Amino acid sequence: MTATHDVKAHILGFPRIGAQRELKFATEKFWRGEVTEAELVNVGQTLRRRHWAWQAEAGLDFVAVGDFAWYDQILSATALLGCLPARFGFDAKRLTLAQYFELGRGNTAQPAQEMTKYFDTNYHYMVPELSSETTFDGGVEWFFHEIEDAQTQGHSVKAVLPGPLTFLWLAKSKQHGYNKLDLLPKLLARYTRILEKLAAKGVSHIQLDEPILGLELPSEWIAAFAPTYQVLAGKGPKVLLASYFDSVETHAQLLADLPVAGVHLDLIRALEQLPAFIAIWPKNKVLSLGVVDGRNIWAADLNKVLASLQKAHSSLGQYLWIAPSCSLLHTPVDLAQEVLLDAELKSWLAFAKQKLAEISVLKRALNGVNVAEELALNAAVQANRRTSTRIHNPAVAARLAQLPSNADQRVSPFTVRQAAQRARFNLPLLPTTTIGSFPQTSEIRAARAAFKQGKLSTVDYDAAMKAEIALVVNKQVELGIDVPVHGEAERNDMVEYFGEQLAGFAFTQLGWVQSYGSRCVKPPVLFGDVSRPAPMTVAWSSYAQSLTTKPMKGMLTGPVTILQWSFVRDDQARSLTCQQIALAIRDEVVDLENAGIGIIQIDEPAFREGLPLKQSQWAAYLAWAGESFRISASGVANDTQIHTHMCYSEFNDILPEIAAMDADVITIETSRSDMELLEAFGEFKYPNEIGPGVYDIHSPRVPKIEEMLRLIAKALDVVPADRLWINPDCGLKTRAWPETEAALVNMLAATQTARTAL
Ligand code: GLN
Ligand code: ZN
Repeated sequence: MTATHDVKAHILGFPRIGAQRELKFATEKFWRGEVTEAELVNVGQTLRRRHWAWQAEAGLDFVAVGDFAWYDQILSATALLGCLPARFGFDAKRLTLAQYFELGRGNTAQPAQEMTKYFDTNYHYMVPELSSETTFDGGVEWFFHEIEDAQTQGHSVKAVLPGPLTFLWLAKSKQHGYNKLDLLPKLLARYTRILEKLAAKGVSHIQLDEPILGLELPSEWIAAFAPTYQVLAGKGPKVLLASYFDSVETHAQLLADLPVAGVHLDLIRALEQLPAFIAIWPKNKVLSLGVVDGRNIWAADLNKVLASLQKAHSSLGQYLWIAPSCSLLHTPVDLAQEVLLDAELKSWLAFAKQKLAEISVLKRALNGVNVAEELALNAAVQANRRTSTRIHNPAVAARLAQLPSNADQRVSPFTVRQAAQRARFNLPLLPTTTIGSFPQTSEIRAARAAFKQGKLSTVDYDAAMKAEIALVVNKQVELGIDVPVHGEAERNDMVEYFGEQLAGFAFTQLGWVQSYGSRCVKPPVLFGDVSRPAPMTVAWSSYAQSLTTKPMKGMLTGPVTILQWSFVRDDQARSLTCQQIALAIRDEVVDLENAGIGIIQIDEPAFREGLPLKQSQWAAYLAWAGESFRISASGVANDTQIHTHMCYSEFNDILPEIAAMDADVITIETSRSDMELLEAFGEFKYPNEIGPGVYDIHSPRVPKIEEMLRLIAKALDVVPADRLWINPDCGLKTRAWPETEAALVNMLAATQTARTAL
């Protein structure tokens, strides 16, 4: 029990997928009609109750309710507020679970709501569609039922919802000449009703998430905070406004003055903001400090955290709350399930459930309970991690220290390289290629899985993959593709494949994190200095090259993408980790070159994702990320052609930095935007060669020759013919063979026609 003068502990949210991804499997069964709605509802309730029980057992003062969502928490808020896109024709108050999923996934009549990344996370939310006509008349009551359920379980409830300003900010409106902020009064009327209803149910606290405060907001949005929270003040539960993902130091005074009961700060991302708050924080106002990393999987250094809290504790007393930095949604659920991880590595980690225990120790320590034993154990673990030779490899540090300053520069500028590459490869105008992967058939997956489980011998696995490579290469030769690829059959995932072969990475069995809807990802754990013990792709690419006289394109994942899609070290700068990966990839590039592979693609689809939330910090990121890419690409001679590939992105605002990566060829996704993206490349006069995707690989639809011809013509308007490549938008691994072949046949026919017209 917490005494009145004690520090309180809470979390901002918990992962809902379940330690065994129960929610994913039940949801997908529901979609396939294999379980009833009642059965799915039951799975959700079981998970919520289990996660609340864990929070209560850890001695937290509240359980978080409202963090659960069947598909996405922003979609759930949309359904609660009653502002569904009118185009679906649904009644928000009578919305069925099946209809809710249609909003997220589309139906035969309507495409899904758009989906996009939640701030700088890999979590995707469903973008609310608002217009000046939008009303907020209320909708489903699920949220209130969850609250009641938590109460009947005997829990003290803290309700959780997106804050009204963040909700509006995240919404899109294509309507011209109308400002989303105009909807604020209507939206606040609905929030007021929700707060009143919570009060009637005896809910004492509500957390409203306003992570937009960590962005560099336009002034009218900042100005909207005080009046907004004025409206919500005293409407029922005490409001805790939660910031996270970045510093909100510049708003310290604004937040101190807001009529809310408390504010949450993310001290993992921005510890330096704390003194500014302590200096001015009013008496009787809660300051919730996020001191356990909600975005990463490392065990907290509890003694260090306690030391950092000392001043806050003495000045805030009972008004100090402690919590993870943000919702635990972004971490896997339970480390205890990882029976294959060795004990040492495991001791360095904490997943969501373990983070509850960390918060619990911190709370008890602050409240004078003797936790010396736990702290001593934690100190030993941290000391071990600081010094372990599994983490610290002096050879890697030495190599970086001795790296020549021009290691990130090719031997000669692009024009010189281009001439050398033309002489070597003698490719036709508008050369054709693909992005790397070919259909991952069930046979390929089965062979890989059997090999991993030891049921297929190395010899047999090798033979199966070689047969697949031969099939893919022969197909491309038949089709007349100028620069074929080996097809990536041996890769489960473009990061995992490399992580498994690099020193410094570990893999979990069940370390799943929700990416969107029922989809989860299992990021590798990058725990130590990275190096490459042996070549990773050379044998496959060499074999593929042996099958054709055409130049085989080698295929690698770039350092920024490997960094971005892994759980990375928190004991050194991301930039340093990225450099280490870059050196390992550079070794592979050089080995490929030595093996006679003259064209090498280094994929960087996650390059843009790494951009910091505050635009003022972009330049620093772009400098080190670009440098890392160039380090990986610059160990080769002029006549080796380096490609890169990026997708799902808009790049208009970072074109100079993309050009500075200095890849000889860049392939990008453009077909879905009707080459709109390419116009910016044209205007900017992108200096090197470029392959704008001429067809969308995300759907099985086979584009007609004329459609692709039209896109090629559009591309030729902005890119000179001698710098234009023809390729699909992205890899083909999710497609089946029939549509892949048909689409490529059309792509080559379109290219032929375009060439004759030149
Ligand atoms: N080479 C990878 C593939 O073709 C690229 C994937 C990506 O861009 N995400 O699958
Ligand atoms: Zn792609």
